[in-house]
Amino acid sequence: MREYNEEEELNRYVWEFFSQFFTTKELEAQRAVHFETKAQDTDSEATQRMLRKKYDQNNPELIEAMNNWPQFRSKARKRVMEKHSGEISINRCQDCSRILRTPEALQCLWCGADWH
Ligand SMILES: [Zn+2]
Repeated sequence: MREYNEEEELNRYVWEFFSQFFTTKELEAQRAVHFETKAQDTDSEATQRMLRKKYDQNNPELIEAMNNWPQFRSKARKRVMEKHSGEISINRCQDCSRILRTPEALQCLWCGADWH
């Protein structure tokens, strides 16, 4: 199992479950990184070209965000959490306080606690 990383889990959770609070540009960057990661995972040049057509390669702002994706992703997540602190709650384990997979999760994949 991968190691717990609070920063990474917060990023994953907030981007996944509170996407309504991110800007269009931020969501575009996330989408572009998704396609670019897939492109880098394949050896087929045709598939790479197809995937890279799914985002605007001529948008310098977008490329900049993609090149600084880990920082960009954390920064956007922090802004969203500050701006919407009243609307965002993080579902945490009652035993180990680590972040659970989803807002509805009733078990912890980190320590195995289960409160069904
Ligand atoms: Zn736990």
